[in-house]
Amino acid sequence: MAMNKQTKPESPIVWQPSNAAEACTLKQQLGEDGVFVAGGTLLRTWWEAGTARMPGHLIDISGISSMQTPITLASSSHDRQICQIGAAALLSEVRNDSYISTHYSLLTTAMKNIAAPSIRNLATLGGNVLSRVGDALPALIVYEAMLLWHDGQGAFEQPLAEWLLEAQANHAWKNRLLLAIILSPVDLSKQEGKYRLDVYHKVGRREVFTPSIATVAISAVVSAERHIVDMRLAVGGGQTMPKRLEHAERLLKGSKLDHSLLQTCYTSVLEHFHPVGDVFASESYRQKTAANLIVSELWKVMQLK
Ligand SMILES: Cc1cc2nc3c(=O)[nH]c(=O)nc-3n(C[C@H](O)[C@H](O)[C@H](O)COP(=O)(O)OP(=O)(O)OC[C@H]3O[C@@H](n4cnc5c(N)ncnc54)[C@H](O)[C@@H]3O)c2cc1C
Repeated sequence: MAMNKQTKPESPIVWQPSNAAEACTLKQQLGEDGVFVAGGTLLRTWWEAGTARMPGHLIDISGISSMQTPITLASSSHDRQICQIGAAALLSEVRNDSYISTHYSLLTTAMKNIAAPSIRNLATLGGNVLSRVGDALPALIVYEAMLLWHDGQGAFEQPLAEWLLEAQANHAWKNRLLLAIILSPVDLSKQEGKYRLDVYHKVGRREVFTPSIATVAISAVVSAERHIVDMRLAVGGGQTMPKRLEHAERLLKGSKLDHSLLQTCYTSVLEHFHPVGDVFASESYRQKTAANLIVSELWKVMQLK
């Protein structure tokens, strides 16, 4: 049963539900004055910066054991494994999981690029996703991740990309509890004469411990003749909501890699990626950084013997 741990009148009251249904009931009862907290690393920065007010009640979900499991595997209809990552799994646990690094290497690289160990040992994957600008997002978008929510009535799935768009328009999702992030199987089997490109880059003003200027995740399959068989591209960075670059994907897929295709791809990124600029890096600088990262990776594939 939920316990009231904190009674100091000026501090928020901290509730510790033991399961997801109880957490959702608390949220329904407390309304806007009750806020879910996982690692609290992001909420803390909002309170300190004054961009969010300290609520009267915190619903601490870090003790819900079913949400902490780094991965659960289930067989899909094609006899492949679907991977479910608990929303309260720590970034450090996700980073160190060998199944994730083998099958979803972009996510492992993303984890290595987030903050420092002290933060990664507190922060959760769910909190990173729900920040809407977290560095895990470009990798998860490329893997076409699904979100498993609990809305107080029951659990349901929603594509991550769909939620990102929905979250721009309304805040209804803030009443829901994110239970897990679901990843479909990735076909990693070696295909004769085909090359796999899986890269994740985060470029900041310094190498580590700095917000991203541009973050790029690429997952592609290229034939020996340099035809692009499959191409998924996602970009984000700073306060920009990450997204797939569908126009560039369409241009690239089925085409043969050559210098003119790289030029077209560069132009497409500039036209379709509209990052949020700030005093440190303008929109145009971020666009060019993302376009250069993508094109340079494709250029490297062109050079392969
Ligand atoms: C020094 C520092 C450096 C950082 N560097 C980076 C960085 O490099 N890259 C990066 O992406 N982020 C960075 N962050 C931001 C943050 O640490 C991460 O985004 C982290 O993953 C947030 O997870 P959390 O568990 O701490 O979230 P919390 O702070 O607990 O919650 C964040 C938001 O998500 C909601 N929430 C959390 N879990 C759930 C859930 N399961 N269901 C419903 N709502 C939920 C909360 O209500 C809140 O609105 C940094 C933070 C700090 C303090």
